Amino acid sequence: MDGATFLNEHSIAPTPIRVSIIEILQANDKPISYDEFLTKIKANKTTIYRNLDILLDKNLIIKNEIDHKSFYELADHAKAYFVCETCHKLEEIELPKLPGKSVKSVVIKGLCEKCS
Ligand SMILES: [Zn+2]
Repeated sequence: MDGATFLNEHSIAPTPIRVSIIEILQANDKPISYDEFLTKIKANKTTIYRNLDILLDKNLIIKNEIDHKSFYELADHAKAYFVCETCHKLEEIELPKLPGKSVKSVVIKGLCEKCS
């Protein structure tokens, strides 16, 4: 599904910036940092931030704080990550099953094999 259709289906006006944000997230299977959006989208920081906030408000994307940086990903398939506090390597891990709960995101911090 392209970005514009995706936004229309969620009753959000598909402005070029929002379409870009969704399509960047769709094209990547890893969380995208705010800094990466700044390099990929031609708009000022505030505009990008405001549009990310709108998509967060509508629960289309989720945000994780990893190592004092904001990372974004699509909310429709929740993922879990292990993040190494030394080398900052991000690794996808199995999503924990919590009976009765709908898990949206999990970030576990620690030291990876190389750094421990
Ligand atoms: Zn490490």
